[in-house]
Amino acid sequence: RTPVPSDIAIAGEHGPKPIAQLARELNLGAGEFEPYGAFAAKVPLSVLQRPSAEGRSARYVVVTGISPTPLGEGKSTVTVGLAQALYAHARRPAFACVRQPSQGPTFGIKGGAAGGGYAQVTPMTAMNLHLTGDIHAITAANNLVAAAVDARRFHEATQTDAQLLQRLCPRKKGAARTVAEPLRRRLERLGLGECSVDELDADQVRRLVRLDIDPERISWRRVLDTNDRFLREITVGEAASERGMARKTGFDIAVASEIMAVLALTSSLADMRERLARMVVGFSRAGEPITCDDLGVAGALAVLMRDALSPTLMQTLEGSPVFVHAGPFANIAHGNSSVVADRIALQLAGPRGFVVTEAGFGADIGFEKFVNIKCRASGLTPDAAVIVATVRALKMHGGGPDVVPGRPLPEAYTREDLPLLESGFSNLRRHIENVRSLGVRPIVAINAFDSDTPAELALVQRLALEAGAYDAVPTHLWAKGGQGAEDLANTVIRCCEDDEPATASDSFRFLYTDDMSIKQKIEIIAKQFYRAGSVSYSEEAESKIAMFEQCGWAKMPVCMAKTQYSFSANPALKGAPEGFDLPIRDIRASLGAGFIYPLCGAMQTLPGLPTRPCFYDIDVNPDTGDIQGLF
Ligand code: ADP
Repeated sequence: RTPVPSDIAIAGEHGPKPIAQLARELNLGAGEFEPYGAFAAKVPLSVLQRPSAEGRSARYVVVTGISPTPLGEGKSTVTVGLAQALYAHARRPAFACVRQPSQGPTFGIKGGAAGGGYAQVTPMTAMNLHLTGDIHAITAANNLVAAAVDARRFHEATQTDAQLLQRLCPRKKGAARTVAEPLRRRLERLGLGECSVDELDADQVRRLVRLDIDPERISWRRVLDTNDRFLREITVGEAASERGMARKTGFDIAVASEIMAVLALTSSLADMRERLARMVVGFSRAGEPITCDDLGVAGALAVLMRDALSPTLMQTLEGSPVFVHAGPFANIAHGNSSVVADRIALQLAGPRGFVVTEAGFGADIGFEKFVNIKCRASGLTPDAAVIVATVRALKMHGGGPDVVPGRPLPEAYTREDLPLLESGFSNLRRHIENVRSLGVRPIVAINAFDSDTPAELALVQRLALEAGAYDAVPTHLWAKGGQGAEDLANTVIRCCEDDEPATASDSFRFLYTDDMSIKQKIEIIAKQFYRAGSVSYSEEAESKIAMFEQCGWAKMPVCMAKTQYSFSANPALKGAPEGFDLPIRDIRASLGAGFIYPLCGAMQTLPGLPTRPCFYDIDVNPDTGDIQGLF
């Protein structure tokens, strides 16, 4: 329809089919889906135990993009629209795998993440709000750890060793002590596994019952799924009942919680349980890392997270299946939906099928982490990468003026301007080169806007081919749904099936190897992917890196927290800057997720709200209960 109605109006016009019907179409048996309401269902990991189909598995396509601008690029829209085109028009089994939207952007600046126009996950209101509660589960689990850390400090400070022992391993008169499993494991870690608790000497009891957490070195923070900037730095424990044990800490957004990364990267319930146990919350005064297992909280975390482990099945406006699972941001986390959702989708799609998975923000962060963190964890390799670009955003990279929310777009973005577009192409060129450098073939999807001219679309196509893209295809999926992405779907099929290299994994490679040092890994990402000239480290980062190396944690990959707006750490440096310095302000270790997490420049791990947030437009119709204003 012209003009294209709002996202929420379109969503309201297209009634989804009952989720049980979709499950039947996918041949999911009765025990293989658990409805959450009429239009969403959890699909358990037992689907992965089915005997695998003969021949090769489905093709695996990752959608990434140019460096984002406030004008929006439409990566989720293309992910969903491409799956619609593959399914409804190319008649292939096709799944989209996307992340669960966070309330931060939904009520803040960016809006929801169900796609847009005629390429959406539906019902978008359910998807953009609580859905099946996974983010709430992560928040609950994360904050249980935080509570456990401070409560443990408090109890250790206010009790003798004997009191602690009696409370942790109670002995009722005449009976043996009850030693809970976490304490048994701690005894083993202390090399006292063979001893009965009653045989321990005073020093051994002390080591067993006291974690002696150093308040200055607690790295675990609290989280919430709201852009509440005033919680970035807080003091906890100010009540008189906490007896002067106040300390400074802070909140991150829930999607940056290590537990979110654990959910996204885990392979099974057992693996998730182990990862949750391994998470390090800080160090003891003697310099020993303290884990969630030391706190005795790992089992409870696994209980809180058990149901969240199953991906949520939903559908597109054209009735094709979508998995929504996990939701890390690509700037402050690893930016990719879950490994288990992709695996289940690959299994269900079968040899003729396609799985289209989205990596957040630009290819410098989302795609880099897709390869070096997610594929390293899953062992999967992509058959192609779709890089989403828009004419408007490329013009902004070329030096186009800033946009002011609520004001009309400057003319540069609504009139043909080939020189400006060509200058901004530098950003897309570098992303194409980077994707190719890891042995993945890039297909450029030009997400067309009404104001784009044929000459502008043709220019991007020509330059993209010259830069080494497999192909570059204008798409109209926002205005037309899957039908507007038929060319893109056919190009993806051709790239993955007809022109397939000997095997996709032959040419696919990681940017760095496990055995490199932490600094080597950071510098390879900075210099080869971002094109920084140098990397500098704060004193704090330097000393933590040395400590992490000493702890034997250098083997893990690196998850850079960096602004999405630029290859550099400075959001104002658009286009394709090079030779800049990349400052590493701080660094954290995520042992459960399995990565080292450097913070670049001023990157914040809890976003703030703008002057005019999205929530201004969001309301409910009191008569019908319909939600308005989500996009
Ligand atoms: P990203 O995933 O890159 O953040 P989205 O797919 O969420 O971007 O799209 C951002 C917003 O832009 C959505 O509200 C969507 O409806 C809108 N949008 C996307 N593509 C187009 C287009 N071609 N024309 C107009 N609006 C679009």
